[in-house]
Amino acid sequence: MSQLSFFEQVNRMFDRAASYLDHPKGLIEQIRMVNSVYRMEFPLRRDDGSVETIEAYRAEHSHHKLPTKGGIRYADYVNEDEVMALAALMTYKCAIVDVPFGGAKGGIKVNSRDYSTAELERITRRYTFELAKKNFIGPGIDVPAPDYGSGPREMAWIMDTYNQIAPDPLNAIACVTGKPVGQGGVRGRKEATGRGVYFAVREACTFEDDMAKLGLTPGLPGKTVAVQGLGNVGYHAAKFIEEGGGKLVGLSEIEGSIYNADGLDLESVMAFRKETGSIVGYPGSTHLGDARAVLECACDVLVPAALEGQITRENAARIQAKLIAEGANGPVDADGDDILREKGVLILPDIYANAGGVTVSYFEWLRNLQHVRFGRMSKRSEQATQERIVQAVERATGTPFDADTRRELIHGADEVDLVNSGLEDTMIAAYHEIRDVAKQYNVDLRTAAFIDAINKVAVAYGQMGIWP
Ligand code: GLU
Repeated sequence: MSQLSFFEQVNRMFDRAASYLDHPKGLIEQIRMVNSVYRMEFPLRRDDGSVETIEAYRAEHSHHKLPTKGGIRYADYVNEDEVMALAALMTYKCAIVDVPFGGAKGGIKVNSRDYSTAELERITRRYTFELAKKNFIGPGIDVPAPDYGSGPREMAWIMDTYNQIAPDPLNAIACVTGKPVGQGGVRGRKEATGRGVYFAVREACTFEDDMAKLGLTPGLPGKTVAVQGLGNVGYHAAKFIEEGGGKLVGLSEIEGSIYNADGLDLESVMAFRKETGSIVGYPGSTHLGDARAVLECACDVLVPAALEGQITRENAARIQAKLIAEGANGPVDADGDDILREKGVLILPDIYANAGGVTVSYFEWLRNLQHVRFGRMSKRSEQATQERIVQAVERATGTPFDADTRRELIHGADEVDLVNSGLEDTMIAAYHEIRDVAKQYNVDLRTAAFIDAINKVAVAYGQMGIWP
């Protein structure tokens, strides 16, 4: 592992990009630093009556746009440097996909497996209360979301706690995203990050010249893919990639990595793990070793979707994948990045590749503020228009469509269709944008993504009249 901390790693990548730009030094400094960090300790009464102290954080990296946005991580290794790094990545991520938020991230230093549901609820409610007291949460202030170790259940607790004390009850529901669908959440949010990773990979594979440079043919179908981590991001990325024609050959979870050159069936691997508690031993697969072993397997596309600091100077030279899509935040450290760049590996950086989550969080937040489901007013009118077109085609051809085709053709968009189409459009547009920047500056996609983000944040600061 490099001597640099996670935040320093992010800043090394940031500085590399900034060196191509001639923004004032003070502005670059302002963009890079973390605006505020709230560190807290609070007591938790455990189910057995004993009392324990919980350490937690919320870092708001940039207030150039409000609210700030980013998940809350529940893990026993959480520390201040990590939340700062992750908050910074959120700022750049939001800028790249044109989601009008500043970046933030929270962390609660607990391993959720060591606590009962009731204890986790007490921790989450107290954490929310602390945030509210210090003005670190609110629909226009700072809007948390799920991250490693948290999900819709935690978000519902946060919303309920905030609701009790909200100064503006009308919009209180927009204080957090990633909520359960029945409680203000939006369909498609849970799968969003993984689906976004899939769109990113699919789009990158469409460019014939880029693929030729990697020695690959265009198109995702038939490409061999390895995924590290089968949590919410990794599982859904693997699922959509498999549905899109990619061949899953390597998979890994905490207990180890498995490989089968003929392909692994995701659902059946998941079922095997549920039954046995491990993916290792899955019929027909080879056990490659620990959770990191999968990173070095023979494949075209690698999706690290577990944690940061997975590809470093220790293993980067042994990576065989030609294309890496960063589902996790910071899976490749700065040294690892240098080595992979030298090797000519095409990296779809985290600040682009995993932006699908926050993109759909943005849709959820908008829907909460609008107080209306997307498509509620337009669906019937869309269907009526489509019905008229279908009838015109039937009249012109003299042949009626069969009932199934007819239904499919006149189906107006449901909310989930609109969410997914907004996500798809966002991921495609952002890919074209960073690819163009990469060509313009003759740099890799990560540097291009940082350049793009820095320029956009700089414009926002300019609009505030702080810098010319
Ligand atoms: N935690 C996710 C991320 O790292 C999602 C953040 C959000 O939706 O606000 O991007």
